[in-house]
Amino acid sequence: MTTDTLLQVRDLKVHFAVKRGLLQRTVGTVKAVDGVSFDVARGTTLGLVGESGCGKSTTGRALLRLVEPTSGSVHLGGVDLGKLGTGDLRRARRRMQMIFQDPYASLNPRMTILDTVAEPLRIHGLAKTPRERLEKVAHLMQTVGLEPAYMRRYPHEFSGGQRQRIGIARALSLSPELVVADEPVSALDVSIQAQIVNLLAKLQADLGLTYVFIAHDLAVVRHLSREIAVMYLGRIVERAPAEELFAHPAHPYTQALLSAIPIPDPKIERKRKRLVLVGDVPSPLNPPSGCHFHTRCPYVMDRCKVDEPELVARGEGHVAACHLDEVPAIDITG
Ligand code: SF4
Repeated sequence: MTTDTLLQVRDLKVHFAVKRGLLQRTVGTVKAVDGVSFDVARGTTLGLVGESGCGKSTTGRALLRLVEPTSGSVHLGGVDLGKLGTGDLRRARRRMQMIFQDPYASLNPRMTILDTVAEPLRIHGLAKTPRERLEKVAHLMQTVGLEPAYMRRYPHEFSGGQRQRIGIARALSLSPELVVADEPVSALDVSIQAQIVNLLAKLQADLGLTYVFIAHDLAVVRHLSREIAVMYLGRIVERAPAEELFAHPAHPYTQALLSAIPIPDPKIERKRKRLVLVGDVPSPLNPPSGCHFHTRCPYVMDRCKVDEPELVARGEGHVAACHLDEVPAIDITG
């Protein structure tokens, strides 16, 4: 861990027992997160990408101990969060906050924006008087580009993009160092997505925030992320600096995610060769043997069905888990 590492995650696992029947017997284990490791430097973004069911949201929640990890460690600023008791964990939670995918579902429809944004301040005793709360909420609303005069309105009076800004204001109310953003723009119109990503970039520059940005779409995380980790069935299958990942993807799954990104020029888009994924992500209750991706991989070999590939170095700060020495290049940009 270097001195500027804020978040260090090592061999993180979140396994859920599946119980059935009257006696609730354990009939299997879902390995939602199965040995995930990464570092995030202070003031930077790690993009965590994969289809739904890949374990990225569970990873995000486990970082904040919103779900209890089965094993592994999460250090925030050198503090092992797994070793903290309830009181210390509560204090540590001020340093890390979450932004959710659906801003409407994550806001209480019966609470005004003032009460919503002020609630964490009240719980943590950071704004003792109503006047102090008003001033802090007004400042937070301005910070996220909302008119403070609207603070007595309710969530349904705002658009989707505005509601996500409210969610961000609430997350910022405790001045966190780490923000885990779980698909923060997936529910928004494409035109609004860029505004929210730009706002997150500005907040990072102004406040020195560190992000773990979870998305199913590589294009969304590209410009904000210093590094990108691609997850498949509970594991990281490739991790690299963002531009390196786009220029030299070393895992077929990453290639497939890249070729799903549309190119704005219709002429290029028509001519372009794609690596199209067939089928859905297999059930994490019964993942494929060997390389978990072998049931969908166009380059599958006999070895892939029995032998699980380890993450190995593919370049400076670049690792991938695939038995191929080199993945055949595909035309990603047209
Ligand atoms: Fe495909 Fe085999 Fe590489 Fe897995 S190890 S991604 S199945 S080539």
